[in-house]
This record gives sequence, C-alpha cells and structure tokens, in this order.
Amino acid sequence: MTNIADNTHEHTQNQYANNTELHDSMCHKVNAIENHLIHIDDIDELKVKLIEQVSKLHIELNQKQAQEAQSIKVMIRSFAAMKKQMDGLHTEIAIYKQGLFEQQKFNLIDPLTQLPNRAALEERMSLEFRHYQRHKQALWVIIADIDHFKSINDNFGHSTGDKTLQVISMAFKNALNGSEFVARFGGEEFVLLIPQLSVNHLDVLLNRLRKKIKNIPFKFKNQQITVTVSIGAAKILENETIQDTFERADAALYRAKKESRDKVIIDLQTIATSI
Ligand code: GH3
Ligand code: MG
Ligand code: MG
Repeated sequence: MTNIADNTHEHTQNQYANNTELHDSMCHKVNAIENHLIHIDDIDELKVKLIEQVSKLHIELNQKQAQEAQSIKVMIRSFAAMKKQMDGLHTEIAIYKQGLFEQQKFNLIDPLTQLPNRAALEERMSLEFRHYQRHKQALWVIIADIDHFKSINDNFGHSTGDKTLQVISMAFKNALNGSEFVARFGGEEFVLLIPQLSVNHLDVLLNRLRKKIKNIPFKFKNQQITVTVSIGAAKILENETIQDTFERADAALYRAKKESRDKVIIDLQTIATSI
C-alpha cells in the first residue's frame, strides 16, 4: 500500500513540475506573439513570425494533452491497485476478527466439559446483575457440588473422574432452558443462574435435577455406582450484590453437605443484611 501511495505521490509531483514547465513555455510564446503584434509592422514578416509561434504553441498543446492523458492512465492504474490492496486488507481484517472472536469464545469454554468456564460465569453474573438492577425480576444463584467426588478418582482413576464430570455436565445442561445458565465453576462444582422462578418451582426443578443425576447408571470396573450432588440456592435480594447472593448460596450448599449430602437447600432470607 505504501509503495503504491508513494509512487502515486511521486508521479503527481512530476506531473505538476512538467505541467508548470509547459505552462511557462506556452506563456512565453503568447508573450512573443504579443510582442510581434506590437513591434512588427511588416505584415508578411508578422505572418511568418506568428505562424512559427502558433505552430510551436500547437505542438506544446498536444504535448500537454498527451501528458495529461498519460497521467490519468497512471492514476487509474494506481487507484485500481490501491483498491485491490484495500480489498485484500479488508479480507485479512475479517479473518483476524473471526479468529479473535473464536479465540474469545474458546477462552470462555471449559475444555473438559464444554460448559462455560468461570470467566464466562463472571461475565454472565455481571450481565444478569445489571438486568436485575433494571427489571428487579427474580434471579437465583445456585451452586452444585458432586458428593465425595474424590473417592471416584481414588477408586477408579482420574480419567473415570473426568468422564463422570462430562456426563454430569450434560445432565445440568439438558435440564436447563435457553434463559438459564450453567457454568463449571471449578473442579466438581457448578454454578447455575436461573431467572424468574418462584421458590416452589425452583425447589421442584433442583430436586428433579438432583434425582436425575442420582439415577444416572454409572458403571465403573463392573460396579454400579451412584453419584449424587448437593445443591445450595439463594435469590438475589434488594440492596445486595450478586457476590453476596453467591455467598448465601455457598452457605446453603455447605448446610446441604453437612446435613446429609444428596440434598437441595434453598436459602430463604428475604432481607439483605449486608448493605
Ligand atoms: P464433598 O462431598 O465434600 O464435596 O467431597 P469431594 O470429594 O467431592 O470434595 P473434595 O473437595 O474433597 O474433592 C474434590 C475432588 O475433585 C478433588 C479433585 O482431585 C477432584 N477434581 C477436581 N477437578 C477435577 C477434574 O477436572 N477431573 C477429575 N478427575 N477430578 C477433579
Ligand atoms: Mg467441591
Ligand atoms: Mg464435592
């Protein structure tokens, strides 16, 4: 691009210099014609001089025209080359943009489970929080943790643990609709964001999910294994941040673990205490 622009610039400068030279020369000839008209009285001599000057002028006019035609040709070629380069650049930019977009998407996906990762969760939490602040619609933050997951790794190996995580992730994903969200928060912990649901409906949904996971027929080393999850949930309250809600959901999960595991506990606090 720089080359074409430089060449075009150089050509325009040369063209300007040539034109100025030609213009000066033509002015000079017009002046000469004026002088002849003033100073030569003999009509025959005047005729000869005028014919001589006019024919020179004619040649220079033709030269000027040829120069201009050449210049236009060069400019058209330069513009065509510039356009080609611009088109190429646009294509390149589009490819980079697409790559960046893919990379950003890739950075938000957990490679093992293909669920949104923690970074994606944080993005979504702030988006949902802003939405909550505008519309004040119910928003539940739910944390689910696989029970005694370490023993699966210990007894059947890490890759069996990985497969278990993949199967349970699918169960979470399939239980939710388009407006609901689940991410792998880390390890064997998942966070769900569920909007616009009453406590009773949430209780039904989470217990259905809990039972569904419990009923997945895992078979490791010919042993039938039951995997369970504990779940804590809290609804965002007026005057609290979504991090406060997250902490209440985490405390509810801790209670579910402590009470029995394979359990759903929904925090029923209705007034924010930390303002
Ligand atoms: P609890 O019921 O109290 O939650 O017990 P737990 O065993 O599930 O919890 P703990 O925190 O003791 O252990 C979690 C285990 O999860 C330990 C860690 O090795 C395992 N883990 C974390 N991430 C992965 C992973 O990506 N793949 C596998 N296979 N294991 C993982
Ligand atoms: Mg855990
Ligand atoms: Mg666990």
